Amino acid sequence: MTVIAMGMPAVRSGQPSMDGRPDTPFLLDRYGRIARDLRVSITEKCSLRCTYCMPEEGLPPIPVHELLSSAEIVRLVVLAVREMGIREVRFTGGEPLMRRDLEDIIGGCRAELPDTPLAMTTNGIGLEHRARKLAAAGLGRINVSLDTVDRDGFYRLTRRDRLDSVLAGISAAGQAGLTPIKVNAVLMRENLSGAADLLKYCLEANAELRFIEEMPLDADHEWARANMITAADLLEVLGARFTLTEAGREDPSDPAERWHVDGGPATVGIIASVTRKFCSDCDRTRLTADGRLRSCLFSDQEYDIRAALRSGASDDDIAALWRGAMWNKSAGHGIDAAGFTPPERSMGAIGG
Ligand code: SAM
Ligand code: SF4
Repeated sequence: MTVIAMGMPAVRSGQPSMDGRPDTPFLLDRYGRIARDLRVSITEKCSLRCTYCMPEEGLPPIPVHELLSSAEIVRLVVLAVREMGIREVRFTGGEPLMRRDLEDIIGGCRAELPDTPLAMTTNGIGLEHRARKLAAAGLGRINVSLDTVDRDGFYRLTRRDRLDSVLAGISAAGQAGLTPIKVNAVLMRENLSGAADLLKYCLEANAELRFIEEMPLDADHEWARANMITAADLLEVLGARFTLTEAGREDPSDPAERWHVDGGPATVGIIASVTRKFCSDCDRTRLTADGRLRSCLFSDQEYDIRAALRSGASDDDIAALWRGAMWNKSAGHGIDAAGFTPPERSMGAIGG
């Protein structure tokens, strides 16, 4: 195993250690977890600059030749599903709608994988004009990120005045059948007081709202545990306007704890990534836009799958690299531990 000195994160080339790994095609790790959910980041570019994610100037551009092509993405996705037991694929970024060939990527995956759920996480800007084409290409569902329905609050959090476009995108996605729509909102001081209004909007739009505790993945490295808004803070605010009763998780690997709103059937979810860590149930594996494999959001170990692809690696070689990367996945993130250091890449550069 060679570690290439490129600064952090440490990019590894060569086959990771498989010591003690049973002979299984699945993406198993040393703690018995199996990755079934593949997150594919397809770009670092974005139409927003959310304070908890991106630097004001955006991420440094990835040179075109370093970005995985649509054909390379399709090859990796198909291989992961056919040979490694991946059951669900989600495209993310950066902002996936910034890629003009998004429909080709989805269409290419759908042609080879007629039964695999293909989903996308998006900020919704421009979705209004592409929702139908994406559905026709084979996209099944979307999660739209929307932190507030207050226009000034939206601007403060995203540094852009684009709330109307996001709302139009959600509406178009519903009409195109990209359902059920989930809305993701990061819990911040700026949107806490508007949380009940956001929930009301989602109930009316027939979208399932999920709040996410802010993780230390902002490019500006300003996250501080002491300033964090927690799931408990949110429950207090929502409880003042709605009656919430525990509804459990959709399935054990779903990080969202759900609550019925005013007796249901509508629910609101809370992903307490920091205060109620769920690493022991994690079933994710990640591919970055520049072709690195990551086993965890918080690990700085990356594996260079792009180099393998471009040096003529066979499907078996790529699968072995992927299995080795996942075998070496760490047990958990340790955000709450003393001495925790955030990963070098921010959320937008990994793919959330
Ligand atoms: N641009 C798309 C979007 O915003 O949905 C996809 C990429 S974005 C990185 C994916 C998800 O990560 C979004 O739901 C976003 O809210 C979430 N996210 C970004 N930074 C985060 C942070 N520091 N903590 C928790 N969630 C974060
Ligand atoms: Fe862009 Fe999504 Fe990050 Fe916001 S959260 S800056 S929309 S990548």
